[in-house]
Amino acid sequence: MNKQLLYILVGLIAVSCLDNKGNEKHVIFAGEIVNPTSDQIVLFKGENPVDSVKLDSDNRFIFRLDSVSEGLHHFYHNPELQYVYIENGDSLQVRLNTADFDESLVFSGKGEEINNFLLEMFLAREEEEFLVNSIYELEPGIFHQKIDSLRNIKLSLLEQTKAEFEISPKAYDLAKALISYSSNISMEAYPFYHRRRSGESKMHQLPDSFYEYRKDINYNDKDLTYLRPYYNFMKFHLGNLAYTMCKADCGDKIERASRQLHFNEHKLKLIDSLITQKELRDNLFRNVAIDYLLKHDTEQNNQRFIEDFKKLSHNNTHSTEIFTLYEGIINMQPSKSLPDFTLYSYGGEEVKLIDIDHKSPVVFYFWSGTEPGHFRNISKRITELKLEHPDYRFVGINLRTDKAKWKGMIDSNNLDRSDQFWTSNYEQAVQTLIVYNPNKTIVAKNGVIVDAFANIYRSF
Ligand SMILES: [Zn+2]
Repeated sequence: MNKQLLYILVGLIAVSCLDNKGNEKHVIFAGEIVNPTSDQIVLFKGENPVDSVKLDSDNRFIFRLDSVSEGLHHFYHNPELQYVYIENGDSLQVRLNTADFDESLVFSGKGEEINNFLLEMFLAREEEEFLVNSIYELEPGIFHQKIDSLRNIKLSLLEQTKAEFEISPKAYDLAKALISYSSNISMEAYPFYHRRRSGESKMHQLPDSFYEYRKDINYNDKDLTYLRPYYNFMKFHLGNLAYTMCKADCGDKIERASRQLHFNEHKLKLIDSLITQKELRDNLFRNVAIDYLLKHDTEQNNQRFIEDFKKLSHNNTHSTEIFTLYEGIINMQPSKSLPDFTLYSYGGEEVKLIDIDHKSPVVFYFWSGTEPGHFRNISKRITELKLEHPDYRFVGINLRTDKAKWKGMIDSNNLDRSDQFWTSNYEQAVQTLIVYNPNKTIVAKNGVIVDAFANIYRSF
């Protein structure tokens, strides 16, 4: 057998391993993970897991699916997420290195063109960020031109790819939407960033043509719901519309005390009137709710917000999360008792939060073994604060760390063992103690909350 023929044969065998076996719809998605950080891969369509597979001993995986609901999927290899666009009949291979996730990705096989194109667009957007950030100061006309020219380069690349390769209309539409919505985020953000950067006291008057692209916005495209730039566009766009609407309709009538509530109520109403696609609607309602609740408005305002939320967002998929957060925030108001929460001491005893100290003011702060930078900074800050406030007791609560590693970190950093506590229940800690910000602290005295939303750097 001559060498050339041998190569062809080996090539054929390699390809036939990934053949679709005569079934036109059969999908294969396979790959190799260099430096794996977990032993499995989960494939998702939106929030729904489609299938999961284990890595083999060579760190390879393979999904074989009879058919898919065509469109954007993502795969999850803890802790990273990555998009993959799949159509029936595709036979895709991916190779990636977790040490350099995005940059190391390459797709090959049937379906590679659209996937590599989408990847290139995401990376281009990241590279562009610095440039775009530096042009918000410019006058609206020039800014508009620059954004348009960045968009046009990508659109012509898309046309070129479409002319050269076989790309389905659905894949083409997705790629086009990715390009358009990504650049339109900057357009929606412009008036706010421009005012901040230029130091102008009022919003800059914009030419009529500035928002021309808005006539093409699709508020209910199911295929785009989980495309991050589309979702982010919606957030900026709703914020912009709410601002403009409020300015036109409400003027200066809004009381200072309920400004946050008022503004977020505009957003709720806008989502209700513009968006019908259930998942996008639920996700945007959730985003406004979490964002607002974490601003620590008054108890009365929070209550009004939740009532409005319930009126407009029926059967929201995320309601349990939102109502739990709301209850948690209500329970953490000043002069209420510390919530019922159990921690473990260095010696392994169960200790209730409320029993930790009764005499002096206690400041609870949070840290995790998975965030060494944050741990270093916060430890340094605590040392300073102890000198400034010798009458306070500073108590560290550790989250998301193996118990043995936690003890090791206490000892190697010479922390006072009696001031350090540990919990294995991260979810419950986040929900009960409302730890959405790593620098948040809870100040309490005699088991009663003084301020459950103090900041370690700003509040002392
Ligand atoms: Zn208003």
